[in-house]
Amino acid sequence: MRNDYDAIIIGGGPAGAATATHLARHGFAALLLDRAEFPRNKPCGEFYSPPVRGLLSSLGAYDAVAAAGISGLPAATLHIAGRHCAGRFDEARHPWAKAGGFSIERRILDAILWKNAVQSGADARSNIALRSLLRNDSGRIVGARTDAGDFHARILIGADGGRSRVAREMGVVRPIARLQKIAIVSHFQCTSEERRPENSSPAIEMHVGVLPNRSGVMVCGVGGARYGARNITLTMPESEARRVAALGAEGYVQEALATLFPSVAESLHGATFLRAQTCGTFGHRTITPIAEGALLVGDAANFIDPFTGEGVYFALRGAELAAETLVKALHSDNVSVRSLSPYAEQRRRELTPKYAVCDLVERAIHSPNFMAWAAPRLERRPHLMDALLSVTGDMSHPARLLLPDFIFGALAP
Ligand SMILES: Cc1cc2nc3c(=O)[nH]c(=O)nc-3n(C[C@H](O)[C@H](O)[C@H](O)COP(=O)(O)OP(=O)(O)OC[C@H]3O[C@@H](n4cnc5c(N)ncnc54)[C@H](O)[C@@H]3O)c2cc1C
Repeated sequence: MRNDYDAIIIGGGPAGAATATHLARHGFAALLLDRAEFPRNKPCGEFYSPPVRGLLSSLGAYDAVAAAGISGLPAATLHIAGRHCAGRFDEARHPWAKAGGFSIERRILDAILWKNAVQSGADARSNIALRSLLRNDSGRIVGARTDAGDFHARILIGADGGRSRVAREMGVVRPIARLQKIAIVSHFQCTSEERRPENSSPAIEMHVGVLPNRSGVMVCGVGGARYGARNITLTMPESEARRVAALGAEGYVQEALATLFPSVAESLHGATFLRAQTCGTFGHRTITPIAEGALLVGDAANFIDPFTGEGVYFALRGAELAAETLVKALHSDNVSVRSLSPYAEQRRRELTPKYAVCDLVERAIHSPNFMAWAAPRLERRPHLMDALLSVTGDMSHPARLLLPDFIFGALAP
């Protein structure tokens, strides 16, 4: 069995599979490893903004994803502070805006991306976990020790998700205290009368509720209406972990819906609970996504709060940016930090402003006083929500929110 490659990619989620696909298509020997076997479940709200369609298309995977059955979500609604704020994705000026956001189960999406990497020429192997990184005498990363043996490569890519072992061994992880949260992702199946026809789901819904004693907020995302299936994603502070343990995931979800989100509970009346996955705590950033002989993509490089839901966008776009740098670095046989720095720089330039907006939005929804002021304005002026969605949905630069129409619209009484 071959054990020496141009690149080893640890983790076959969207970031890893996309990076392997790009590298294999450039003719590099890419080994893609995952400790799981695909299809596998991944806790996720399963909502993707319109540009994700474009990223899938440039990977050559969009047709397979569309054929697997996606449900279109042209709009988003935010239910907060007793208000109902609605915006549309197709108001943005972006080539994919009219196609709208969409939903597909991660189990299906990730399996398609994994298969796409294989078809592109990557050597993809499941059920193999990274144990530790291999370094040479000067400390440069030169491969991976796994439970199937040692593999060597010119570059190692950490795409192993929010608890990345690669990032931890690189010594670059910094937890974000504010984002130390837990989540429960549950799936329900509506009865046949309540099934929405495919492609007619009205909106991705985000409901924000305040926990008893104002101990924090809980966000409830409602989406994924394919064949009547609903994805209900609850995100809450780590302090709720005890109650989740006491009630069990299903019991906790039912209680939270009944007490904090009665309109969601009502919409699920008669629906069958299918399964729930609990995950957390999450929330970290890295001080740099590169090291001598290694690079991080996707959640391994930076975890984004699920409220703005763009983790898959960042994973796929990050893979594109990584591939641009990696192709040059591998051709020149130089995988030093200096040679990989264009990736770090491009990430900083392109993704940092967006992370900043997501951060602001996340802080805003945790401030009941601010939302009591902002929510009525967003409700009355849908064009403000459209502008917000175009930015959080990666169709406009964050500077869009500094334009006079947005600022004066937001400040007007
Ligand atoms: C509650 C929640 C809701 C979310 N909702 C949304 C949403 O609606 N829309 C959206 O776009 N994003 C959402 N996200 C974010 C999104 O899920 C992530 O950003 C995305 O999965 C990142 O992809 P990735 O490839 O970096 O990591 P992952 O998808 O996590 O893939 C990492 C892979 O690495 C493998 N792995 C891990 N460790 C090892 C190891 N030691 N050895 C070998 N393999 C390993 C894992 O098995 C896994 O397959 C949500 C996240 C959470 C937590």
